[in-house]
Amino acid sequence: MGATGYFTHPDCWKHDMGPGHPECPERLSAIEDRLLITGLDMALTRCEAPPAALSDIELAHDRLHVATLRGLSDGLRKSVAAGGAAYTALDPDTSINVWTWDAALRSAGAAIAATDAVIGGALENAFCATRPPGHHACRDKAMGFCFFNNVAIAARHALERHGLERVAIVDFDVHHGNGTEDIVAGDERILMVSFYQHPFYPAGGSVSSAPNLLNVPVPAYTKGMDVRELVELMWMPRLEAFRPQLIVISAGFDAHREDDMGQLGLVEQDYAWITRCIQDVARRFAQGRIVSCLEGGYNLSALARSVEAHVRVLADV
Ligand SMILES: [Zn+2]
Repeated sequence: MGATGYFTHPDCWKHDMGPGHPECPERLSAIEDRLLITGLDMALTRCEAPPAALSDIELAHDRLHVATLRGLSDGLRKSVAAGGAAYTALDPDTSINVWTWDAALRSAGAAIAATDAVIGGALENAFCATRPPGHHACRDKAMGFCFFNNVAIAARHALERHGLERVAIVDFDVHHGNGTEDIVAGDERILMVSFYQHPFYPAGGSVSSAPNLLNVPVPAYTKGMDVRELVELMWMPRLEAFRPQLIVISAGFDAHREDDMGQLGLVEQDYAWITRCIQDVARRFAQGRIVSCLEGGYNLSALARSVEAHVRVLADV
C-alpha cells in the first residue's frame, strides 16, 4: 500500500488562546511524543504544511470573514507591540494571539497540500497534526476554537481545483460539525456523515438539514460498541452508495471516555475500527485516498493514544 503523510508546522504550536485553555499547543506535543515513543513516526512521510492560499480558503468562507480575521490579527500585532494585551477574544471560547493567523493558514494549508498529494499519487493518505481545528468554523464566522474550516476547504479544493466529482467528509468528533454543515449543506458533490453527542455544544444538529448530510446524534454515555453499530448500519450504506473519490476526515478524539470535554465512551480500539471502515470505503472507491485533519481531543494521554490507533490503520502498521 502507499505512503502515509504526516503534515504539521511549528506555527501550529505558537497559536494559543490563553492560560488553561484546553485547545492548547501541548496537544500536538503529546501526539508527536507518542509517535516517536512507539516508533510509528518511522512509518510516516513527514511533510511541512505550507500556508493556504486565500483563494482556496475563500472556496469555503466569505471574503469578509477572511478579511476580518486578518484585520483583527494585524490590529492585535500592533497593539501587542505597543504593550497591549496578548489576546483578542472572538467569543467566550475562542481567542486569537499574534500567531493565530499564521497557524490557521498552515492548518488549512496542510489539508490542501495533503489533498494535492493523495490525488497526485505521492501519498495514499495523510494525517494533519495541526491546530487550530476547523469543524465549527462557519462560512462567515469563527467559533468553538475554530477559524477556518480545514476539511470543507480541502473538499472544495479537491472538487474545484482537481475536478473530482464526489468527496465524502466523515466527522467523528464528539461535537457536531456545525461549521462544516453550514458550508456544505446542499452541495451534492459532498456527502457529510457524522455522529456526535446530542444535545450538546453547539446548539442545533438534531436533524440533517439537507439531503447530502447524514447526522447521527447520540445521547451522552453512549458506548463505543453502540457507536460502531450505528456506523455500520447508517454510515456505511450511504458512503458505499455515494462512491466517494476522496474521503476527508474531521478527526476529533474528544468522544474518548477519558476526555472530560464530552460524555461518550469510545476507546482507542473504537477509533481504529472506525478508521478501518473508512479505509475500506476509500480503498474500494477512492484508490485509498484519505485526508484526516485533527479536530478535538483534550485529554492529552487519550488523544495521543487515539491518534496512534488512527494513524496505525492509515499506515497499515
Ligand atoms: Zn470536539
